[in-house]
Amino acid sequence: MITGTIFDIRKYSLHDGPGIRTAVFFKGCPLECAWCHNPESQSFSPELIVHPKRCIACRACVEVCLQAAIDERLGTDRGRCLACGDCVPVCFSDARELVGREMRLDRVMDQIKSDRVFYEQSGGGVTFSGGEPLSQPVFLQAALAACRELGIHTALDTCGHADWEVIDQVRSGVDLFLYDLKLFDEERHKAATGVSNALVLDNLRRLSELGHTVIVRIPIIPGANDDRGGLEQLGAFVAALPGAPPVELLGYHQTAEAKYASLGREYALKGLPSPDRERMQSLAGILSGCGVTVLNEW
Ligand code: SF4
Ligand code: SF4
Repeated sequence: MITGTIFDIRKYSLHDGPGIRTAVFFKGCPLECAWCHNPESQSFSPELIVHPKRCIACRACVEVCLQAAIDERLGTDRGRCLACGDCVPVCFSDARELVGREMRLDRVMDQIKSDRVFYEQSGGGVTFSGGEPLSQPVFLQAALAACRELGIHTALDTCGHADWEVIDQVRSGVDLFLYDLKLFDEERHKAATGVSNALVLDNLRRLSELGHTVIVRIPIIPGANDDRGGLEQLGAFVAALPGAPPVELLGYHQTAEAKYASLGREYALKGLPSPDRERMQSLAGILSGCGVTVLNEW
């Protein structure tokens, strides 16, 4: 039985492609963006999340933790914690949860199939997101094939950082690519994400040449990629692609800050303000000026 490491299945999503969708979130990503709004998706391993505000100080977790990872003040020592999950079921106030679990394909498909009526009424479907779904190609390919057999529309939300052989293996099962582009300059991309963008750009070019349906998504992160020069580079690249795929801008927001805290991690962008509507309109104008179709409605 094929299995994948999944950290969430979100129903009735309206922001992950057309219509009402079921979004399946794969755990693990090859990039390390400081602004990631799903930090629980980055590691390929299960992780412990702690919500201190829900804690009623019953100390049941302390009793079961064989690693002695929970101290007298009920703080969790991340250096000791093995994410075994033993403290989760004994916490009746849901202050502890394990994020990421191995799921069988048929279990995931059961959840996807249960929402078919919504897909049919709204023109929706399923979106494979993450994390990076292409990092689990066997599971992804099998899930795409199962959806295709059922006539369910599929979208793949990807950062594009994968070997072309992997994309080539799955692309026939994808109806829509939601393709993230962050920066055109390779050194800036490396500094912001930890990896080169050579694969990202090359794979997008190949998908466009092959006629796939693509929406390019650019997250706008103040100070990281919202400068005119960088956007013009991205805009020129996208406009020159075969079919010139449309672009959607995603404004940075701070909602992930609490997630970093619950994972015991520092949030590097603390206090960074979100770009306002006027700023987003102005940046969209830069891309339009390069000949790019911007999909956002303001
Ligand atoms: S089991 Fe839950 S509620 Fe009890 S002390 Fe631990 S975290 Fe707090
Ligand atoms: S997940 Fe396991 S090791 Fe980590 S705090 Fe809970 S019981 Fe201890």
